[in-house]
Amino acid sequence: MSGRPANVTVLGATGSIGTSTLDVLARHPDRYRPWALSARASTDAMAGLCVRHRPRYAVMVEPGAAEALRARLAEAAPEVEVLGGAEALVTIAAAPEVDQVMAAIVGAAGLAPTLAAAQAGKRVLLANKESLVMAGRVFMDAVADAGAELLPIDSEHNALFQCMPPGYRAGETAPGVRRLLLTASGGPFRTRALDTLAAVTPDEACAHPNWSMGRKISVDSATMMNKGLELIEACLLFAVPPERVEIVVHPESVIHSMVEYADGSVLAQLGQPDMRTPIAQGLAWPERVEAGVEPLDVVARAALHFEAPDPARFPALRLAAAAARAGGVAPAQLNAANEVAVEAFLEGRIGFTAIPAIIEAVLDAGLGGRVDRLEEVLAVDAEARALAVQLLPRHAV
Ligand code: NAD
Ligand code: MG
Repeated sequence: MSGRPANVTVLGATGSIGTSTLDVLARHPDRYRPWALSARASTDAMAGLCVRHRPRYAVMVEPGAAEALRARLAEAAPEVEVLGGAEALVTIAAAPEVDQVMAAIVGAAGLAPTLAAAQAGKRVLLANKESLVMAGRVFMDAVADAGAELLPIDSEHNALFQCMPPGYRAGETAPGVRRLLLTASGGPFRTRALDTLAAVTPDEACAHPNWSMGRKISVDSATMMNKGLELIEACLLFAVPPERVEIVVHPESVIHSMVEYADGSVLAQLGQPDMRTPIAQGLAWPERVEAGVEPLDVVARAALHFEAPDPARFPALRLAAAAARAGGVAPAQLNAANEVAVEAFLEGRIGFTAIPAIIEAVLDAGLGGRVDRLEEVLAVDAEARALAVQLLPRHAV
């Protein structure tokens, strides 16, 4: 720990990960200062966070929201400087004063500032898996070239990171590692009658049995596309091919993932389903700090269960595995189609089972492109989104 508290930018501060991050930061004012916060449009929530955490900057992305926030803070927290627009996200991610950036915007909108943080050599706390899935090598190369510190916050990847050999850095292939066992809760529909899935509502899909999360990732957990995205994420973070990652359904969400070594050892990380644990681990690494998380009572948990995922119930897993194997443009297309389909499902425009159907159609369309530079990634993303949007009416409810 250096002399002054580390300046932390929290991208997506009003979200589930963002508020958990601020909770951990507030427990350690000697170590961390919330330096900049961002949100898309929720002025009320942001005003509350600014009054409580007193950041140097607050960014609102949606037009008009910055002005509204400025008016709200004029008396309550006049020292907070309010910036507007998506470009300001890059400013607060890459500013020289910043030490750590929590990347907790949901979806592709997080890519530009997350990449900017990596290029500026920051400690990047990566929750925004979509940006990594989209940009793949572009992102990992930026981390390596700039000497950034990449700390996985997604609970599974954080668990895998914690089970890696001493001195391990994300992006390296760890010697002696045979397989990664990526655990999955199976979501709210693990045992629901298959013929009822087409009619599930957004609220049912968002009612996750173990984790409280934003709506997009909750739907991803219900389709298990979340685990599909995490498979791609694991291959990039830990530099392993998809054949060496096994997805294991573990309904209790106590083991957050496991690393299997050549000698047969399997190391697991266990804990409460509380994102403050991986957040605190990433912030403090290689040290440990208090995170406000209840101790895990293993006796009370008594039994842990494991099963193979059901491919008929979760076609998203097959699609993501195919995209992981294909590489190139496929992961970005998968992610783009998924974002469009999930948003349409949440808006009540398509049914639940249309989500994987739309993704499959986009992947099968044979759209081309390259993904060696950010502009190319964004072009592939835009083309896949446009096709997915075009397919929506065919699946209208
Ligand atoms: P959330 O919906 O609760 O919050 C999203 C945040 O992003 C909000 O602050 C919102 O204002 C901001 N945002 C949304 N759209 C934006 C846009 N277009 N431009 C700028 N900002 C925008 O989401 P969450 O559950 O906190 O998830 C955030 C990310 O973390 C996702 O990528 C998710 O996959 C990942 N993640 C979340 C959890 C979890 O437990 N919630 C676990 C693992 C990974
Ligand atoms: Mg996860």
